[in-house]
Amino acid sequence: VLSKRLSVVGQEVPQGARLADIGSDHAYLPVALMLAGKIDFAVAGEVVKGPFESAKAQVEKSGLSEKIMVRLADGMAAVQEADAIDTVTIAGMGGTLIAQILAGGKVGGQLKGTERLVLQPNVGEPQVRLWLLDNGYEIITEHILEENDKRYEIIVAEPCKGDKQLSYTQDELFFGPFLMKEKSPVFLAKWQQEAEQLRRVLQQLQQATTPQEAKVAELTLELQRIEALLA
Ligand code: SAM
Repeated sequence: VLSKRLSVVGQEVPQGARLADIGSDHAYLPVALMLAGKIDFAVAGEVVKGPFESAKAQVEKSGLSEKIMVRLADGMAAVQEADAIDTVTIAGMGGTLIAQILAGGKVGGQLKGTERLVLQPNVGEPQVRLWLLDNGYEIITEHILEENDKRYEIIVAEPCKGDKQLSYTQDELFFGPFLMKEKSPVFLAKWQQEAEQLRRVLQQLQQATTPQEAKVAELTLELQRIEALLA
């Protein structure tokens, strides 16, 4: 049974997809989606030997070795031309790493710019949105959820169609264009908690013996942004 987090990622994978799950660890996501008849083919990419072996064992145990290719590779290098991948999932990593993996896929030619992307950064969500914006991807929906006292954001993007001019405001990049409109209870709880933490850090910085003016200015701006959203 998939975690709630991976279930929501899986819900955003289209029926009949040819999926690349990068940083697949145990390959839980592609295995569950294949067993549910949701996807036709998958690549499970892993850069670390241990998780790669776990993924292979999981796929073999499930009798899916013909349909899920487990490959030891850095990022999108796991994908080959003949795979004809149309959907990419990258979950459970920092936003900076996700953006690096996508950028590497673009340079390497494995990411064509036609795929649907389903991304679940643990931190650094704005970096992911910025990469999407800079690379002609439009965010088509977002989710936020809570599981085991942690909150997760899921960002779904597709290539921007036609000659639509994409732009996001600073607030949209920071909070998420869909999430900030929806203002769900989980979203509000996340930003209330962030604001409280910022206030505590600011108080400590202001009491510090060495002046921390630049940091104080930066965090004050961030706090103001959050307070304006919550107001
Ligand atoms: N995607 C799974 C999930 O969401 O439950 C696993 C998340 S796990 C915390 C992150 C995985 O990404 C690790 O197994 C790690 O080895 C792998 N990883 C990190 N950087 C990677 C890269 N550049 N290419 C492929 N896999 C990577």
